[in-house]
Amino acid sequence: MSESQATAIQPDSPSSNAIDTDALIIGAGPIGLFQAFQLGLQGIKAHLVDALPHVGGQCAQLYGHKPIYDIPGIPVCTGKELVQLLDQQIAPMNLPRRHLNQQVQSLSRLADGRWQAVTTAGTEFHTRSVFVAAGVGAFVPKALKVAGVDQLAADQLLYHPSETSSALGRSVLVYGGDEEAVQAAIDCASLAAKTRLMHRRDAFDAAPDLLARLQALRDSGAIEVVIGQITEVQHNAGQLQALQWMDGEGREQTLSVDRLLVYLGISPRLGPIADWGMAIEKKQLVIDPATMATSAQGIYAVGDIVSYPGKKKLILCGFHEATMAAFAAAEYLQGEKPLLQYTTTSAKLHAILGVHHPQH
Ligand code: FAD
Repeated sequence: MSESQATAIQPDSPSSNAIDTDALIIGAGPIGLFQAFQLGLQGIKAHLVDALPHVGGQCAQLYGHKPIYDIPGIPVCTGKELVQLLDQQIAPMNLPRRHLNQQVQSLSRLADGRWQAVTTAGTEFHTRSVFVAAGVGAFVPKALKVAGVDQLAADQLLYHPSETSSALGRSVLVYGGDEEAVQAAIDCASLAAKTRLMHRRDAFDAAPDLLARLQALRDSGAIEVVIGQITEVQHNAGQLQALQWMDGEGREQTLSVDRLLVYLGISPRLGPIADWGMAIEKKQLVIDPATMATSAQGIYAVGDIVSYPGKKKLILCGFHEATMAAFAAAEYLQGEKPLLQYTTTSAKLHAILGVHHPQH
């Protein structure tokens, strides 16, 4: 590590509640999941963190229902199907322990040489090795940027909540036009005192069956669709009271609302990775392709986040990188070069995979 990198990685005070582990994987996209599998084969159990409430990264978030044709041995599968298969592959190893819905915010070196990682949910890890599988960055919800939002209490405005129990008995406004927004409005209709769905135009991007259910609930009066945009939120000591909004003709109007569920989309942000002191070029981590080691000892990087001569941002290439990183980390953590073993014939790997010896 260079002098400047060493300065950038500041030690922090360790906490006694920290999770001690040999390996931490940052990012549960396809490559983070396969990294867990490859580490498992080396006998290394990892913890896995992702900013999203589910695993799968770009495959699940950006093209879950679209077909992929270039995964070796799988002629065709959708993004979500690939994620399910990767998940199924690591299931028998009883790993990794997952920490979803939280972004790794800081990464710093402890006095004993391990790494301390802390997430936005306050989870703290002390780990001997780190695998940055952060893809194009952490997927985080796009924020509603209007006057008054910053003063709202945390439970008054929810971004992309995965369930809608907070709507119970409330006057709710769901803001957005995609499938998640439509689903949320449908879910709220049976819980909330009043459900409104606001979007810029009267067209929603959702599967036909959801659109049919939305229409039926509109027809019965259970959901009111409002066409316009929020311009301001009004609150009393952080408690949401009403929304100012503008209709299609540019007229300002007011709606009385006491819960706001915002679905403006989720987009990737590189976030704090750039501040962790590893060599970085054009927003990609620079690694040694023989080991996937970054410029910081014990930190490896794999998948779309890395750069090396000839790098291709393909899932297949990320799988290879995860394998190289697992072998290199096994040598670093276990102090000797691991033997190359085949899953077809190795009794040790069969034990890890929970399979019985094939009968001949
Ligand atoms: P990602 O899939 O981006 O996952 C990274 C994960 O890390 C994310 O879930 C993110 O939330 C999380 N993360 C990042 N930072 C943090 C942090 N600080 N804390 C917590 N979590 C964090 N490739 C192919 O091989 N074949 C194809 O057909 C194909 N089609 C594609 C179609 C589209 C529309 C797109 C956009 C891409 C396609 N790709 C395809 C590319 C492929 O999806 C990527 O190469 C692959 O997803 C990279 O995987 P990854 O695990 O490195 O990163």
